[in-house]
Amino acid sequence: MVYALVGNQNSGKTTLFNQLTGSNQHVGNFPGVTVERKIGEIRGEAGAAVVDLPGIYSLRPYSNEEIVTRDFILNEKPDGIINIVDATNIERNLYLTLQLLEMHIPMVLALNMMDEVRGNGGTIDLKQLETQIGIPVVAISAIKNEGVEDLINAIGEVSGRRIYPKVTDFCEKGPVHRCIHALSHQVEDHAEENGMSPRFAASKIVEGDTDVIKGLKLSQNELELMEHSIAEMEQDSEMDRNAALADMRYTFIEKVCENAVIKCEESKEHKRSVKIDMILTGKYFAIPSFLLIMLLIFWLTFGVIGAVLSDLLSMGIDSVAAWTDKALTAYGINPVVKSLVIDGIFAGVGSVLSFLPIIVVLFFFLSILEDSGYMARIAFVMDKPLRKIGLSGKSFVSMLIGFGCSVPAVMSSRTLSSDRDKKLTILLIPFISCSAKIPIYALFTAAFFPKHPVLVMMGLYLLGILVGLLVAIVLNHTVFRGNSMPFMMELPNYRFPSVKSVLLLMWDKAKDFLQRAFTVIFLATLIIWFLQTFDSRLNVVADSKDSLLAMVGRYIAPIFIPLGFNDWRVATSLISGFTAKEAVVSTLSVLTGTTMSNLSETLGTIFTPATAVSFLVFTLLYTPCVAAVSTIRHEMSSTWRALVVVLMQCCVAWLTACVIYQFLCLLF
Ligand code: GDP
Ligand code: MG
Repeated sequence: MVYALVGNQNSGKTTLFNQLTGSNQHVGNFPGVTVERKIGEIRGEAGAAVVDLPGIYSLRPYSNEEIVTRDFILNEKPDGIINIVDATNIERNLYLTLQLLEMHIPMVLALNMMDEVRGNGGTIDLKQLETQIGIPVVAISAIKNEGVEDLINAIGEVSGRRIYPKVTDFCEKGPVHRCIHALSHQVEDHAEENGMSPRFAASKIVEGDTDVIKGLKLSQNELELMEHSIAEMEQDSEMDRNAALADMRYTFIEKVCENAVIKCEESKEHKRSVKIDMILTGKYFAIPSFLLIMLLIFWLTFGVIGAVLSDLLSMGIDSVAAWTDKALTAYGINPVVKSLVIDGIFAGVGSVLSFLPIIVVLFFFLSILEDSGYMARIAFVMDKPLRKIGLSGKSFVSMLIGFGCSVPAVMSSRTLSSDRDKKLTILLIPFISCSAKIPIYALFTAAFFPKHPVLVMMGLYLLGILVGLLVAIVLNHTVFRGNSMPFMMELPNYRFPSVKSVLLLMWDKAKDFLQRAFTVIFLATLIIWFLQTFDSRLNVVADSKDSLLAMVGRYIAPIFIPLGFNDWRVATSLISGFTAKEAVVSTLSVLTGTTMSNLSETLGTIFTPATAVSFLVFTLLYTPCVAAVSTIRHEMSSTWRALVVVLMQCCVAWLTACVIYQFLCLLF
């Protein structure tokens, strides 16, 4: 049994999915988080699975999310649909329900957020609702795990016994009714051949859904006949075809709600949201308060909490390393193996690991912003300024995800409606500083600017955004002329962030980071250690200056002379950064043969503050890592475009770092 979870954005699909399956998908008070469908087994129900689909408002394919959902239901024919409805917003949510009913698939309505409805004095007559829309209705609160058991029973029952929706006629008479009926009859044979319900096919023909119409393989003659009925309906109802359909559906919904729903008074949550929004998204305060909030988060992360925790952890790792060193020496192990463990693994992986707390703390704050509903508003506030350079608030959503990692950010660009918007956004994302670069920044700030960690961090992030926007402006006037598609998003109420989803997001980040540390970075460390320990004849070298790696590094290093550093170790660290950005730190650590706590001092012999700035700017902007490049390749479906991205990034990084370095040299 496969059940599809379908509903509006932000109606709680992912929350319910997690409850049903016990999995930990990312929940966000933030439309557009789920881009791909996810499948999971229902706990305690052998052989039953649910699919979490992206949120949609209608089945009329305006956006990619709608297409994904429509195609899933049409092509993969789930055994049942769980239509999740935000009960605080029932009228608008039922619009999608009516379209789903037409598809003739066993279905249950899950009325979610009933806790909020009850809390605000509203009631919904479930029996009444059930008779009027002809499918079982279950009141639930996904977040509190209430009613979920009943929901599983209900969907199991209708799917197992193949009970179809009883009501599919949403109006009794009038031009729309006549037209739909006529069309359903005409299309019946074609629809059944395709395993589609005739009524659904008829609606789609009225809406002009080209994919579905093509799939039905109607003859020219039949098409003309139907077009004639539709034109007649438009004339009789004095509305255009889409307006007429929408009007029919909303009239029906109005009638249903009139009988079954006692509206709650304006909810507390909504009132509160309106008040908070007067400041946070007000005309004058919106952008300053965003900057202020970010500054506060950066200060807490890089200046206070995260920094202290990181120092503690790196001291711990160092003492374990020292202890292991002693133990290995006492055991009398082969010096090459000891070097592998101490100079390779401990120096490399250890140096990266010590930045884990900073990343976790940063994501603690960011997930609070997201879960509270603030991030969604920022996208909204940014829409207007971004429009001036041909982007939209929706691109900003992807950019925000990019602060975490470019891979999901590039994937989220799928939700952008036009190809132009999508490509432009993908080109922008790598300029947004991802969390893997944090170890590099933190290391250099501690070494060269210990008094101004917040300033340096904030500066780097802002520089990344600025350069990205400049590139966007240039592209907007050259390759990607045009305007961005309109941005529509519903602003969710501010909510108190749920402890569970904040913890989950932090754990997700930490897990991801640990995984990378022990796979990619571990491997990169081993390779770097190997290359710097042996020469071309595989003899152990006394000084890594004579190693294989140094030979290669020396070829590349001169490229960076205009940026102020000409050191083979730095050049190689940048190359290994292509595997994962944290590897820049582990490589530097391995190559200088130092542990974390005195890596800062050693760096002082390679860099000056000015060259450190130039190095930071270069690492901020240069090529995305392998994983991101392959995602870009996939999303752009072109290898050469991905190569262009890599090249462009490197050029932009080199130029920017060069300009900044030369400028600093002039100043000091
Ligand atoms: P999706 O976009 O449909 O996947 O929705 P999510 O599962 O991401 O949830 C959107 C927001 O609604 C999150 O902030 C959830 O914490 C919140 N939410 C989900 N279910 C409930 C519920 O039953 N009651 C309340 N009060 N909030 C909920
Ligand atoms: Mg979701």
